[in-house]
Amino acid sequence: MTDHVPLLQGSCFCQAVSYAISTPPVLSAYCHCSNCQRLTSCPFIHTVHFDVSAFTWTHPEPHESQLDFYDNPLKPYKRRFRCKTCGVGIASYNSHTNRVSIWGATLGRNEERKIVGWDIAKPTAHIFYGTRMLDVNDSLSKWEGYESKSERLD
Ligand SMILES: [Zn+2]
Ligand SMILES: [Zn+2]
Repeated sequence: MTDHVPLLQGSCFCQAVSYAISTPPVLSAYCHCSNCQRLTSCPFIHTVHFDVSAFTWTHPEPHESQLDFYDNPLKPYKRRFRCKTCGVGIASYNSHTNRVSIWGATLGRNEERKIVGWDIAKPTAHIFYGTRMLDVNDSLSKWEGYESKSERLD
């Protein structure tokens, strides 16, 4: 028997809520949309999407006992989960796409506080860059909406 080490794992700040992921992401990007800005109070976030089958909660059951959720009235098909103890938003589930998204900053860290599995999880683009709160001078492509599905801005 080999150990079942998940491909990626992460937790909220206080570690009362945790998750594991078994596949590479279907999307990983820095999102500059106004929903992400207003829901996180950050200028942009690192969103990482997976098929729901790749995602599992790993904190003690019943998982719901440590989780609050919020359904965005503008996107009622998208449920955002957060830790009841530290309040960190940790994942959201989109029932239209059957995908879970996590925020890259919640991924597990090594002794140097760097993300474990960064090469698997790292962003490939900046999306919804038209509503950015700051310019980013990196080498990743910039898009009006989703990567390769909208106008490229830079
Ligand atoms: Zn927490
Ligand atoms: Zn967004």
